[in-house]
Amino acid sequence: MNVQAQIDSTSPRTTEHFDVVIAGAGISGVGAAYHLTTQCPGTTFVALEAQKTFGGTWTTHRYPGIRSDSDLHTFGYRFKPWTTAPIASAAEILKYMGEVIEENDLAPHIRYQHTITSAKWSSAENLWTIEAIRTDTGEELRFTTNFFWMCQGYYRHTEGYTPEWKDMAKFKGPVIHPQKWPEDLDYRNKRVIVIGSGATAATLIPAMAADAGHVTMLQRSPTYFRTGRNAIEIAEELRKLQVDEAWIHEITRRKILFDQDAFTRKTFNEPEAAKKDLLSAVEAYLGKDYDIATHFTPNYRPWRQRIAFIPDGDLFQGIKSGKASVVTDEIDRFTEKGILLKSGKELEADIIVTATGFNLCANGDIEFAIDGKPLDFADTVTYRGMMFTGVPNLVWVFGYFRASWTLRVDLVADFVCRLLQHMKATGAKKVTPELRPEDHNMPLLPWIDPENFNPGYMMRGMHLLPKRGDKPEWQHNQDYWAEKDEFPAIDLKDKAFVYG
Ligand SMILES: Cc1cc2nc3c(=O)[nH]c(=O)nc-3n(C[C@H](O)[C@H](O)[C@H](O)COP(=O)(O)OP(=O)(O)OC[C@H]3O[C@@H](n4cnc5c(N)ncnc54)[C@H](O)[C@@H]3O)c2cc1C
Repeated sequence: MNVQAQIDSTSPRTTEHFDVVIAGAGISGVGAAYHLTTQCPGTTFVALEAQKTFGGTWTTHRYPGIRSDSDLHTFGYRFKPWTTAPIASAAEILKYMGEVIEENDLAPHIRYQHTITSAKWSSAENLWTIEAIRTDTGEELRFTTNFFWMCQGYYRHTEGYTPEWKDMAKFKGPVIHPQKWPEDLDYRNKRVIVIGSGATAATLIPAMAADAGHVTMLQRSPTYFRTGRNAIEIAEELRKLQVDEAWIHEITRRKILFDQDAFTRKTFNEPEAAKKDLLSAVEAYLGKDYDIATHFTPNYRPWRQRIAFIPDGDLFQGIKSGKASVVTDEIDRFTEKGILLKSGKELEADIIVTATGFNLCANGDIEFAIDGKPLDFADTVTYRGMMFTGVPNLVWVFGYFRASWTLRVDLVADFVCRLLQHMKATGAKKVTPELRPEDHNMPLLPWIDPENFNPGYMMRGMHLLPKRGDKPEWQHNQDYWAEKDEFPAIDLKDKAFVYG
């Protein structure tokens, strides 16, 4: 590894230089490392990860039942086959990522317990200076790099989002956010309230219901879920025929993506029919007498928020068995014994779990500056949801919500590797996205159209995110099916890229 160590004149810190620095070693950071190794051999790089190990989301979240809500054929990388059931536990995903690291000798490139605190660009040197702190020793470290690849995810890993309800402190039992699950929490035979209706609540409830006395899902409003067998028929058939796993992976990905595309289009073109499909699958588990209208019928068009897949309908089976139940109501306040609802009913509990989401964190809590001037990403316009006007040599991985995040990890990586090669071939030291003359009168809009996609954490944090324009170049359109063709065709000589 071409590591250039220098002694900085103003501080005792050593400075190491890498062609590329990657922030984070979650599924995006490990994917970036793989693609750099395979598509840009000889490029020096390091991934700096705040946590003790790789995995990101799958290391942070340790609550009972933690699993993916989309299939692993597409949440897995395109280059490494997923060979078991499509919905996977965090442990299985971590095993898969560990294999990617081992098989491609990526471990020497990853440094754990390294939290990046600042990233400062100097146009005089055409370099980012990245400061990090070692969380185990407190040591302050400095890196310089030509290119900063942000794979820090979209939410703050250190704490989840819990709304402030009245009298929370009065409740006698523990109030737990799933992002900080206590290892020793004993919920056997206890009455548990899980506040929330998203993927986390839907995962936790069946997992806890087996041992808890009773689990109540308390939601303000319902969410759509998809359900079915935790298996992909075409993969099973191909496996029976002893087809090579690499082929099975590719064919299964295509089939899943084809079906998802059809369903997504249906949610836009025939929302009522799509809604009916989703609700009748729930009814098949809960029966005609269950009040699906109140508890599982959202008042928005399907796909305006993420739709989690419920493998084998386990959430609904928990409800059907009586071990779990759903209450759709609003919280008035906490009480000693539980929660008083706006309807006047009191729900009693021994444990309350707040599955209420994340704190959006657009920049990994890194202090950014360009030539001494603090950078606020909200003042920039995004180039295809991965680069930003006025910000040189930086790419950010923000995946898909309606398709697996990792599909975009691979696509963005292909783009970055192509860009780095182009810069090497042309001798360019920097590339900065800039609005072209024809873009100057373009309306600047929030990062995502709330009519299109509007989960709570996005709405709470929209003001922190870069702006979007009204042309494909200047937005993250959340459309994998368009981007899979558009990304490889991006013209690196387009005027949106200003080289220096
Ligand atoms: C419980 C849960 C289930 C999910 N299931 C799915 C699913 O099934 N399908 C899907 O498509 N999406 C899913 N998602 C969304 C999911 O977060 C992403 O798909 C994906 O895991 C994000 O990967 P990432 O590597 O980009 O970010 P993350 O997993 O968030 O990892 C980012 C890493 O960067 C590190 N980091 C952040 N800031 C710094 C810093 N300043 N310095 C150093 N390191 C830093 C973090 O410690 C972390 O390890 C799920 C999310 C959650 C919370």
